[in-house]
Amino acid sequence: MLATLWRADQAAYIVGGCLRDALLDREPADWDLTTDAAPERVQALFRHSIYENRFGTVVVRHRGAQYEITAFRRDASYSDFRHPDSVEFGSSIEEDLARRDFTVNAMAWGSRPGDKPAFVDPHGGRDDLARRLLRAVGDPDRRFGEDALRMVRAVRLAAALEFEVEPGTLAAIGRNSGLAAHLSGERICAELLKLLAANRPSVGLRLMADSGLLAVIAPDLARQRGLGQNKIEGEDLWDHTVRTVDAAPARQVVRLAALLHDVGKPDTFADGHFHGHESVGAQMARGFLAGIRAPRALQERVAHLVLHHMFIYEPNWTDAAVRRFIRKVGPGCVDDLLALRAADNQGSGLPADAGHLTELESRVRAQLASKLVLGRSQLAIDGNDLIMELGLPRGRVLGRVLDDLTDRVVAEPALNDRTILLDLARQLITDRQLVENPIS
Ligand code: ATP
Ligand code: MG
Repeated sequence: MLATLWRADQAAYIVGGCLRDALLDREPADWDLTTDAAPERVQALFRHSIYENRFGTVVVRHRGAQYEITAFRRDASYSDFRHPDSVEFGSSIEEDLARRDFTVNAMAWGSRPGDKPAFVDPHGGRDDLARRLLRAVGDPDRRFGEDALRMVRAVRLAAALEFEVEPGTLAAIGRNSGLAAHLSGERICAELLKLLAANRPSVGLRLMADSGLLAVIAPDLARQRGLGQNKIEGEDLWDHTVRTVDAAPARQVVRLAALLHDVGKPDTFADGHFHGHESVGAQMARGFLAGIRAPRALQERVAHLVLHHMFIYEPNWTDAAVRRFIRKVGPGCVDDLLALRAADNQGSGLPADAGHLTELESRVRAQLASKLVLGRSQLAIDGNDLIMELGLPRGRVLGRVLDDLTDRVVAEPALNDRTILLDLARQLITDRQLVENPIS
């Protein structure tokens, strides 16, 4: 890629996060190149490239990897704490590096045409990399004032790379955290999801809380600080939350549910209890995720997990009770719910298995494997049968009958037979008609 540009008499460099990751022996998420060639020229040099006009970036796929090639840039003035008012082409690699966020992200490797490729590191990125430090390029107050997302990127990168934030940079986040209120939900969401994918998200979450960013981005979570818990001696509800997040497997939905599972507690606290915090919390979780424009399906799944996270299992449950549990939670969600509860246990200083969780898990697996009825779709009849055989109209009653039949079969799998179910359905309809149209 670089050679193609050099041969065409253009300067070309590998730049930014991918170089940082390569030096850290991490697999880069994406490869960024920068050049003095204008986008149209780059596009002409690479067949099959795509020009994303909005960002002035040409995207090239090469041997399964994706390369983004951007002309040197310099940022013009900022007025909304988010985007520069315009992006201008710069004239040198040094100018391009000076607009980048952190010193470890402001290194390049490459050259002008004809020169020997070399490291370009005007801001001491390699030293900071060795010390595992995130340090703003230039004056941190100014840089965060230009683009508030850089503060969120700092805490996200600290968690993802297991770096510390250099004290001067961290203090500046504290002074400027209020500017995060100007950020769009989408950008916060993208950073939060990357933060939650880290080995130990607690590193970034604690930085967010301590710097004041959390109070701006997720005020309901910030209110967990200082709220007592009779779980781990000397720890508050926020401590419990971050422990739970770290203990959760790194699946997006489970980590988000762990972060939000007790979000309803501060509002429901009375007489030493958190009455109905799971249903209040499910609403709040949905509201928070809608606010940061998380995908709708993710909002629903997380809210669902929060709503159900307080289940109590007893070893004396019958198999039918296990099936009812699966039916209530949903066969596709039960794994995530058990993982959330195991993490919640660990966050409470208990063994992951507390509440006979492993036993429940194996019983759930056995039921799922047995293919016994867990939902309407496995019923031996469907809505069409009821319409054809019993002349039932489409609508609410039809759905209710199917649900009732499913409940019966979940309790007693032997009933899952076409003739039996049609008989049961006839009975149900007669009963229901009596209820709904009482004979006067
Ligand atoms: P990731 O591992 O998620 O890809 P990254 O640091 O590479 O992390 P990208 O979004 O790929 O993040 O950005 C690539 C590079 O662009 C960064 O390394 C940095 O040099 C620069 N950059 C990204 N966002 C900003 C910003 N808000 N302000 C200044 N420079 C930025
Ligand atoms: Mg990157």
